[in-house]
Amino acid sequence: MSAKRVLMHIPDIIIAIDGYSSTGKSSFARLISEELGFLYLDSGALYRAVTLYAIENGIISPDGKIDLPALEKALDGLDVHFEDRGDGWKTYIGDRCVEKDIRSLEVSGKVSPIATVPQVRDYVDKRLREIGKRKRVVLDGRDIGTTVFPDAELKIFMTADLDVRAERRAAEMRARGEDVKTEDVMRNLQERDYIDSHREASPLAMATDAVTLDNSRMTLADQMEWIRNVIAEKFNLTDRD
Ligand code: C5P
Repeated sequence: MSAKRVLMHIPDIIIAIDGYSSTGKSSFARLISEELGFLYLDSGALYRAVTLYAIENGIISPDGKIDLPALEKALDGLDVHFEDRGDGWKTYIGDRCVEKDIRSLEVSGKVSPIATVPQVRDYVDKRLREIGKRKRVVLDGRDIGTTVFPDAELKIFMTADLDVRAERRAAEMRARGEDVKTEDVMRNLQERDYIDSHREASPLAMATDAVTLDNSRMTLADQMEWIRNVIAEKFNLTDRD
């Protein structure tokens, strides 16, 4: 039986993928979701959408100062969600698709401070847990296996060399038409990793029961081969299942 057939017998589980910025978590999670027929949830997209809203409404100033009372008030009625209008699951603020806008370097530069705010984390966690109830989901983020779904049946912690990550992210942004310097992207990744790992509210950390994946020298195909083996072994999926 092929590895793909084996994976069709996977039980109803939650797969939590955490790790440093730009380690390729979302590409990997998306491919896993396609192969397993799971729903993919990009938790970072929700933090990015809240940040975009904060930037556009003067809740975070150009130099990064957050108006906390205004942010709390905005969260009250803010409608950030995922929706599929026939072109795949995308991130929306109300009726507006913000999938592209939330990936700018400006949002990347302000999202980590916004994600340190406990009320913002509660706002995002609530949405993720609501969708996660259905199981058969794969999520990526920084605290999915430690805080959002500590009981997730499979937890992966991703890492890769900083220069590899910066090159990959810069290439991705250039492909979207953004004119970026690799060194600026690298600085942004370092800043985000630092803030994410040192914040008080659910910092980026590896869950004790997570499996590490360093993909510095792996293609996506290598990573899929790796996870098929991890899943087959962990859930005892053999040819006879
Ligand atoms: O995954 P992505 O890089 O798009 O996430 C953007 C930012 O959102 C991260 O740098 C991090 O500060 C924050 N984040 C978080 N917790 C998550 C997902 C993202 O704090 N679960």
